[in-house]
Amino acid sequence: MDMFCFQCQETARGTGCTKRGVCGKDAYVANMQDLLIYVCKGISVYSTKARELGIENKEVNKFIVDSLFMTITNANFDQADFVEKIKEGFDVREEIKEQYLSAGGKLNQELPDCATWEAEEISEFEKKANSSEVGVLATENEDERSLRELLTYGIKGITAYTEHAFNLGYENGKIYEFIERGLVATTDGSLSIDELVDLVMECGKFGVEAMSLLDKANTETFGHPEVSKVNIGVQNNPGILISGHDLKDMEELLEQTRDTGVDVYTHGEMLPANYYPAFKKYSHFVGNYGNSWWKQDEEFEKFNGPILMTTNCIIPPRDSYKERVFTTGTAGYPGMVHIPDRKKDQSKDFSEIIKMAKECPPPVEIKKGETVILTAGCAKYRYNKLDLGDINGIPRVLDAGQCNDSYSLAVIALKLKEILGLDDINQLPISYNIAWYEQKAVIVLLALLYLGVKNIHLGPTLPAFLSPNVTNVLVEKFNIAFLISNICSESFYQLKSKL
Ligand code: SF4
Repeated sequence: MDMFCFQCQETARGTGCTKRGVCGKDAYVANMQDLLIYVCKGISVYSTKARELGIENKEVNKFIVDSLFMTITNANFDQADFVEKIKEGFDVREEIKEQYLSAGGKLNQELPDCATWEAEEISEFEKKANSSEVGVLATENEDERSLRELLTYGIKGITAYTEHAFNLGYENGKIYEFIERGLVATTDGSLSIDELVDLVMECGKFGVEAMSLLDKANTETFGHPEVSKVNIGVQNNPGILISGHDLKDMEELLEQTRDTGVDVYTHGEMLPANYYPAFKKYSHFVGNYGNSWWKQDEEFEKFNGPILMTTNCIIPPRDSYKERVFTTGTAGYPGMVHIPDRKKDQSKDFSEIIKMAKECPPPVEIKKGETVILTAGCAKYRYNKLDLGDINGIPRVLDAGQCNDSYSLAVIALKLKEILGLDDINQLPISYNIAWYEQKAVIVLLALLYLGVKNIHLGPTLPAFLSPNVTNVLVEKFNIAFLISNICSESFYQLKSKL
C-alpha cells in the first residue's frame, strides 16, 4: 500500500485508494496531505491552549483553514505546494507555542507527537509521511477511525466556506475555535465513542454557522440572488472560463476584463454567480459554459480560451489544453500557472490570463438556450438542461446556488415550518436527497442533521469512511437511507450483514 485515502465518493472499489487516487492524486501528494493535516493538529494543540489564556492568533487560523482546504478532493495536486506548506507549518507552530509560553502557559501534560515532532529535510518529511503514525490508518479501531475522519472531513468542509467568507472580509472566531478544538480531539485517545459522536454533531452546528457566515458575506457584498435565466450559448469574442466557488475572484476578474473585448463565462459551481445582482451589470459576463467537473476535459478542450480554477474541482488535464488552465487560492496543479494571492488592499492580477484570452479563438458552442435556475451544488447538472416544464408557471427545477447555499434551502424549510405552524421540520412534505462527492457535502449532511432533518437519502454510494457501527448510529438516530446502487458487492455484503 503506497497511500490510503477514502475521503470522497470516487474512492477505489468503494473502500479506499491505495496506489494512486482515482481523482488523479499521486501517493506522494496523498501522504504529504496527511502530513500537513498532522502538522495542523500539532499547531491546534497550542492554539487551543493559548485561546484559554485569551490569545487569538490570526495567522494560525488562516494557516489551518488554507491547509485543510488544500487537502479537499480535487483542490491541489502539486507536491511542492504541500512541502512548502508543511515547512511554513513548523514556523506557525513555533510562534503560537512561544506566545502561549510567554503568556505563562505551562506544558505539563504529555503532548501528542504531532505537537512535538520536528524535521528540516524533505527526506524526513517523506519518511514521516510514509510512516504508520500519520494518516487515516494510524487509528486502529475502525469506529474511532470512522468518527475521527467524519469529524475531519466535516471540518474540511467548514474550512472551505470559511475561506470564501474570509476573502470577502467576514470572519467568526467561534468557527476557528471549533476547527482547532475538533482537530485536537482527533488526537485524543481518551475520548469515548459517544464523545466523538457528540463532536461530529457539534461539527454540524458549526457547519451551519460557516454557511450562514458565507451567505451573509455573499449577499451583503453582491446582493441577494435573483431568479434568473442563464444563457448557455456562446458569443463571438474570445472568452475566459472561471470555475470553482470564489466570488471575490469572480468580481476581480469581471472588473479587470471590462472593455477588453474578452467575455467571461462561468463553469461548474461558479454558475450561481449569474444570479447575483452585482455581477449582472457586466455586459461581458455572458453566461455559463458546459457542465460540472466531470465533463471538464472535453469542455475545456472546446472552450479554446484560458480557464481559471478558483478552488477544488480540478481533474487531471489533457496536454492539449493544460497550458490554458490557471489556478489560484488553494487550488494547484503541477505545470499550471498559479495566480498569487492578493496583497493587502490590492486585487489579484489576472492580466496574464486576459493577455492569453485575447490571442485565443472564441469558444465552440456546446449547447444553445437558457437554463432556469431549488437545487444547490453541482449535482444539478444531471437535470438542469432537461425540459422538465413548470407547475403554474414555476419551473420544476430551481437552483439555489453552490453547495454552501444548501443553508438557504434549510432556511426555506425552517421558514415553511414556522409559517405552517408545524412542530417539526420533518412534517414538511420535503424529501432530501444528497448526492455527495467530497468533503463539503459531508458538512452539508452534518449541518442538516444538526438542524433536525431526518429521512435524508444519501448516495450514490455509501461513504467508505463510515464503519458499520457508525452507519448504524446514523440510521437509528436520523433514519438516513443510503442509495447503495453503485457500492461494490463486498462492501454491500459487509454492510448488509451488519444492518
Ligand atoms: Fe481516492 Fe477520493 Fe482520496 Fe482521490 S480524494 S485519493 S479519489 S478517496
